[in-house]
Amino acid sequence: MNKNILEFSIFKPYSNRITHGITTKPMGSFDDKDKDFRTQSEKLPFTHTVFSNQIHGDDVIVVNKFPKEKLSGDSFIAYKKNIPLAIKVADCQGILIYDPVTEIIAAIHAGWKSLTKEIIKKTIHKMKKEFGANPKHLLVGISPSLGKCCAKFSDPKTELPEFMQPFVDNHMVNLLSASKKQITDTGIPENQIEIINECTKCNPNKYFSHRNGDKGRMAVFINLL
Ligand SMILES: [Zn+2]
Repeated sequence: MNKNILEFSIFKPYSNRITHGITTKPMGSFDDKDKDFRTQSEKLPFTHTVFSNQIHGDDVIVVNKFPKEKLSGDSFIAYKKNIPLAIKVADCQGILIYDPVTEIIAAIHAGWKSLTKEIIKKTIHKMKKEFGANPKHLLVGISPSLGKCCAKFSDPKTELPEFMQPFVDNHMVNLLSASKKQITDTGIPENQIEIINECTKCNPNKYFSHRNGDKGRMAVFINLL
């Protein structure tokens, strides 16, 4: 694949069953306000990709066919082949989940607001309830995102709920640890979570960062083959 697309090692043994990746800044932006599905997919290995209007919510949407209009939401599950899911990020975590047993995939836009609404936990619960996924089998990848070095909040004591307080250190918040906790709480073993631990704000040549003032977005994508 394109050298400007990062991949999770944890998914590599399944490269004949899924295609996935994270685009980096040299590939350009996937901010899609005025672009259609096809134009956006030109730089990805698909003809069409399910990009959505991301709203920092917590709905988990099952996509069973290619939508006619752009969906609104932050978490998507697909179980059919060739419905590529993509999340746009620039500091927020793009999280991909694959279950090699039930052959389902999920893509989550996990910004801090959605983390406060437990979007990761809700997604995994839906994979379990509707598709019979066993958390013990799930593999999770988390894209480069805002590190604890740069995730500064003005007043995290009031901005974040009680369950996120253990990840607060003065004004700084470890959002990756907060995500990891939501994932392991569902029963997914820690060694099945891969985090690309590079801060988007600290690596301006490689990643778009909202906090650096970038308008651009990276795409975090996954597709069942
Ligand atoms: Zn940083």
